[in-house]
Amino acid sequence: MTSTVLSPLLLRSDRSSRVAGMLAAVASVAVATAIIYPLKRVSPVLSLGVLYVPAVVVMSTLWGLTFGIVTSVLSAGAFNFFHLPPGGRFDLADERDWVALLVFVIVAVTTGLVAELARIRGDEAEQRRQEADLAAEMARLLLGSARLEEALELTADRVAGAVGVSSATIALGDERADERSLAFALKGGGRRIGTLSLPTTIPRDERARVADRVVPPLESLLAAALHSRELQSEVVETAALRRSDELKTAVLRSVSHDLRTPLTAILMAATALDPAHPTSGQVAEVREQVLDAGTRLWRLIEKLLDLSVLQAGRATPHSMWYSIEEVLQEAIEQTGVAREVFKLSAQPDMPLVQGDPGQLERAFVNLLENAARYSSGKPVSVRARAVGRRIRVLIVDQGPGIPKSQLERIFLPFYRAPAQDQSGSGSGLGLAITKGFLELNGGRVTVESVTGQGSSFVVEFPLPEPGLAPVAAGEHAGQASD
Ligand code: ADP
Repeated sequence: MTSTVLSPLLLRSDRSSRVAGMLAAVASVAVATAIIYPLKRVSPVLSLGVLYVPAVVVMSTLWGLTFGIVTSVLSAGAFNFFHLPPGGRFDLADERDWVALLVFVIVAVTTGLVAELARIRGDEAEQRRQEADLAAEMARLLLGSARLEEALELTADRVAGAVGVSSATIALGDERADERSLAFALKGGGRRIGTLSLPTTIPRDERARVADRVVPPLESLLAAALHSRELQSEVVETAALRRSDELKTAVLRSVSHDLRTPLTAILMAATALDPAHPTSGQVAEVREQVLDAGTRLWRLIEKLLDLSVLQAGRATPHSMWYSIEEVLQEAIEQTGVAREVFKLSAQPDMPLVQGDPGQLERAFVNLLENAARYSSGKPVSVRARAVGRRIRVLIVDQGPGIPKSQLERIFLPFYRAPAQDQSGSGSGLGLAITKGFLELNGGRVTVESVTGQGSSFVVEFPLPEPGLAPVAAGEHAGQASD
């Protein structure tokens, strides 16, 4: 500590600034000497010695105590030579002037010393402030970011800036740093948790400062960030387990209830048929019941398969250029609902979009089926437009609407709002499948609804960059993209 305080105290300048310091000392003494000449006529000369003190203070503050002392001695010499009798030589006529001159030198040196100490305290305070700023910034980066690796890079840059080196790295674990760099081990919980590496060109006293003032807060913050990452991954894991558990329960519930209902209908229809003398009326009725229940079963199994493929991440889109209008027409066809229920309008010459038309049909079928089912036969408007750099499809029904509290949840697998589903034929799978397929193809779906008036499902796709898509809609639809 003594040496770090004393070295800047005594001399803290390099060679070139030492020359400048000498010149400044001579110049400031010359100025003070010149000022005393006119003042001698109005004031006793001995009292004017204090005019050299500002020069000593300035020199001590800017060039260190050595220069302050040099300036004091120069001042004493100049004062003696130019102003104290007999004048023009380094001698004094009155013995008492020697005492005055000595007192002057002591006062000047003490003042210089005080000025220098004040400067050192100021520098130290500034350094502490910078260290506190660095610690606060490191805390913000390491504890506030979700991605630790990215936060470590930013923290290392910040440390490099604070230490004044071109680069720094922070590596996790007990990996040793490259031999050409200066490694500071970062420890936490009794083990090495990382390494701070700086260039070896860093000056010796700066190394000590990094070890004493930068490494300890960095260690604590890194340990805290690692701990919070561990906790977070535990939470995510638990949530994933709970979700998969909930999903399994929901699948079982769906299988046991939704599959059993149409199967029971088929069995009962078959049992009701008199095998010996079936009438044509009975046969027609049974046929209709079996077809109806069979179709429901088929649709449910298809949805379960779609969802399982999506959840397993196996639904890779086969991307090609397609016309959104053709996809909507095909989806309307597949709903099995009377064609007139849907009022389809598409802006002419809409650009083609890239994606998997098969998956998008499945996404739209679910939205259209819902709209038709929940609005009990009232017309459903389906409008497709290009809006800015997007294609927007609006499916608007006049059904019962969806309460605000449920808008978020309806896209979750197996979520059903029983109040609206008068037919009881829903599975809670449709919207989850729609969302999954749309997002896989770069689209998104949102919903707005007014209870009692109806719901609007909005599907949007980004348009390709101008010039990328084939020119006319319809002509090239179905071409595989490369
Ligand atoms: P479901 O097979 O039950 O319709 P979905 O996932 O398709 O399953 O829909 C989830 C829930 O969202 C439905 O149970 C229903 O409450 C609500 N819902 C979806 N579409 C509409 C709509 N057009 N109008 C009113 N409610 C809707």
